[in-house]
Amino acid sequence: SQDDQKAEIQEFKLEADQELRFEVESKTEKVYLSLKAGLAEVFGTEIVKGKLYEFTAGAKIAVFTWHGCTLEIRGKTDVIYVAKETPMVVYSNCHAALEYMRHEAEKDNNKGPTTMIVGPCDVGKSTVCRILLNYAVREGRRPIYVDLDVGQGNISIPGTIGALLIERPASIDEGFAQEAPLVYNFGHKAPEKNSALLSILTTQLASNIKDKLEVNKKARTSGVIINTCGWVKGEGYKQILNNTKVFEVDVILVLDQERLYNELVRDIPNFVKVVFLQKSGGVVERSKSVRSEARDQRIREYFYGTVKNSLYPHSFDMKWSELKIYRIGAPALPDSCLPLGMKAKDHMTKLVLLTPNSGLLHHLMAVSFCEEEEEDILKTHVAGFVCVTNIDSERQTLTLLSPQPKPLPNTILVLSDLQFMDSH
Ligand code: ADP
Repeated sequence: SQDDQKAEIQEFKLEADQELRFEVESKTEKVYLSLKAGLAEVFGTEIVKGKLYEFTAGAKIAVFTWHGCTLEIRGKTDVIYVAKETPMVVYSNCHAALEYMRHEAEKDNNKGPTTMIVGPCDVGKSTVCRILLNYAVREGRRPIYVDLDVGQGNISIPGTIGALLIERPASIDEGFAQEAPLVYNFGHKAPEKNSALLSILTTQLASNIKDKLEVNKKARTSGVIINTCGWVKGEGYKQILNNTKVFEVDVILVLDQERLYNELVRDIPNFVKVVFLQKSGGVVERSKSVRSEARDQRIREYFYGTVKNSLYPHSFDMKWSELKIYRIGAPALPDSCLPLGMKAKDHMTKLVLLTPNSGLLHHLMAVSFCEEEEEDILKTHVAGFVCVTNIDSERQTLTLLSPQPKPLPNTILVLSDLQFMDSH
């Protein structure tokens, strides 16, 4: 079309071990990448020569080449440059070390390495996970990806933790395929909102994965890669120690922060390898508004899909009486008002049955897998999410936006703090 002809076309010749970095900011522009010659990869996924890859607002991409390549970029980028210094050789060495451990595990039918990536915000933790998972799956492995980053996670929607069996490399523009993820609803975008709940869910997820590894030999020898959130101080640090224990972590990769590295070396038992890694100079810091925009985008994609793969969610009414809506966490009472032996913290993990009210509007709610046992609602993973798009107090109904048509797999719902404005 005419637009395409107007769009600027740039060609880049990269030498071995270099990467082309670019960002797309504009909401109206799209940027297209294609490989003209040589070999290249985006965060560990190989690019197919001649294929056109499309990137939209928010994309921050690095195209790396081990042997040199020629790339073509079409469209308006906000930042674009070739970097000569990258930590890719170090990341590739990490992969080689994990691969060695997988070989060893195979010999005795043992568990392959469980690797946890830690570090502050915006140091490239998710990206390193993606690279290591891609390299593993390209070797024929089937690793499990665990994402504990409740704010900017890559599995399901924000406010959750979860796990995914990785069976093929991430799609360059859409990430890993989300087939049958195991998801727990935390319900907040910030981990510090309820660390008692987060510990419980993490422990539950870890034990669930342990069971899965016992019956899936391929996944067992391939091991687990765990992404974490940038909360590394105080209670956040304690969560890292707890994760190490419950997931039986073998290797911790610490990105960027030497203080954290030294603390972990001091506090973690010797049989866990703690490795310090430099962050990539390409990692882009995200402002609060960019983060919140990314969260909205993920939720929108959960219901409506992407440009390439549209989804068509359903909207239907449910009677209040058909649903049981719970919130996790009762209003805190001072310790002096609590029954003997109970801690104020316990209130944070208490289930409260709600009467639907206007406060639910725009909120997401997790659809529990839990059938009856109310005590288990907290610890049970979820089937998915619905969004409250209307409340009718007279008719006593809620209108729900749902990926699946009526009936819901279950009528026990758990309220999330996260909201979504459905503008479709
Ligand atoms: P963290 O998980 O530590 O918060 P991310 O891995 O999400 O950090 O990286 C932050 C942003 O930087 C992401 O948008 C990612 O695509 C981008 N990014 C990571 N590595 C590079 C790189 N080498 N070049 C350009 N952008 C990068």
